[in-house]
Amino acid sequence: SGPAEAPASAVEALRGALRGELLQPDDPGYAAATRLWNGMIERRPALVARCAGEGDVATAVGFARDHRLPLSVRGGGHGVAGHALCDGGLVVDLSGMTTVEVDPDARFVRAQGGCTLGDVDRATQRHGLAVPFGVVSRTGVAGLTLSGGMGWLRRAHGLSCDALMSATVVTADGEVREADAERHPDLYWAIRGGGGNFGVVTSFTYRLYPVGPQVYFCNVYYPARHAREVLRRCESLLSAPGGRTAPIAVFGRVPPDEALPAHLHGEPFVAVLALFPGGPEEGERELRPLREITAPLFDLSDVTTYLDAQAVLDEEYPDGNRYYWKSVSLPGLTDELIDRIAEHAARAPSPVSTVDVWFQGGAMARAPQEGTAFSGREAPYLVGIEGNWSDEADSERNVAWVRETFAALRAFSSGGIYLNFPGFLEEGEQLVRESFGPQYERLAAVKATYDPGNLFRLNANITPRRA
Ligand code: FAD
Repeated sequence: SGPAEAPASAVEALRGALRGELLQPDDPGYAAATRLWNGMIERRPALVARCAGEGDVATAVGFARDHRLPLSVRGGGHGVAGHALCDGGLVVDLSGMTTVEVDPDARFVRAQGGCTLGDVDRATQRHGLAVPFGVVSRTGVAGLTLSGGMGWLRRAHGLSCDALMSATVVTADGEVREADAERHPDLYWAIRGGGGNFGVVTSFTYRLYPVGPQVYFCNVYYPARHAREVLRRCESLLSAPGGRTAPIAVFGRVPPDEALPAHLHGEPFVAVLALFPGGPEEGERELRPLREITAPLFDLSDVTTYLDAQAVLDEEYPDGNRYYWKSVSLPGLTDELIDRIAEHAARAPSPVSTVDVWFQGGAMARAPQEGTAFSGREAPYLVGIEGNWSDEADSERNVAWVRETFAALRAFSSGGIYLNFPGFLEEGEQLVRESFGPQYERLAAVKATYDPGNLFRLNANITPRRA
């Protein structure tokens, strides 16, 4: 499909107006620019605008609007649903915008919209500081922050969006707006949880917290038959006064990795992963109970750098493999539920798929519910269902496994999904509404202010509606 609604002369004018490159299907860089992390996604945009700054973003947004082209926005390119690309339209590609500026004294960092977590962490760790980001360093800060953002520091310091002090946003009218508590406070509220609905965020300014460079990281694997004990121990550790550790309990099967004992390959496990958000000696002491629940299959826990801990899972998610994920918020963890999770995880058609229990609460739950658009702070648990596989021929049964597991766990759920683990959002508006929960109406009103024509619709889409 060519640029159906944009005449060639207009495309040439756009090319001349951009500082960055403009790619079309016959251009040499086009194939690389239209590959995403999730190999399930194949789309052919007519134009990819590799933006060099917010001026380019405003130009590209204006072009898509004026020519009525579908518009998608690419930050780190790791959105699971693949909305970073569109068919036949224009991609606002921020992957070249990765400047990071740290102010260690005032404790904030400004990161452009194409940064990965690793780009920002590498700069802030020079000062022993960090933003509470997610747990895979190659993913983008943009998608993460706009839909919440949960990682190892969520119980100590809250969500990524909670650390967002201000943002620069190019809205549908092509204006470049600063959004913070004073300037466009409605927009500032909405982009902290409302996803990419409100414009293109060209830069994010985050508050920084002291953590690292050395930390203690718990990474211990138990036989899955001990799942109840393991999850209960995680719970009791968290309910201790001031508990700031935020474990993830991962259900999976031991991969055929040479570094792991061969007789354990394929064995169902429940692993406990957690980063202690303080000094490594204290961390070793505090996390010890997580490592002594029962005899482990193996224990990789150790003192490490914060940067290495942030990358500990990177290799598990290679570019171009196939991924289909969903999630369920849970009000409690009954024995029956734990058994269900273990059963479904053991049945996964792919040996590298997992079901992950995120222990929430702490700082992320203490932040006022209405203070940001993020919905789901109050749920004490989130279960991520990750279908991960490589061969296209296996797609159907892996997607089916995720859907079955999702349906089974939904019976225990308090409603909604985490919009950063969304599947393809094929369920449509109902699930999106449920996931935004009580924030939906207010989000729809902010959407009507900044994007009344719904130009930014390739996302967990909010229908604009005047309050
Ligand atoms: P992209 O695909 O570039 O963007 C996703 C969507 O966000 C776009 O379609 C668009 O709608 C919007 N968007 C992107 N950039 C902008 C922008 N600059 N302005 C406006 N809208 C924009 N989430 C967690 O909370 N915690 C985790 O620990 C975690 N781990 C993950 C691990 C892996 C391997 C992966 C793939 C994902 C993980 N996620 C996690 C989810 C992740 O945060 C989302 O997939 C997120 O969307 C990725 O952002 P991105 O910028 O890389 O993606």
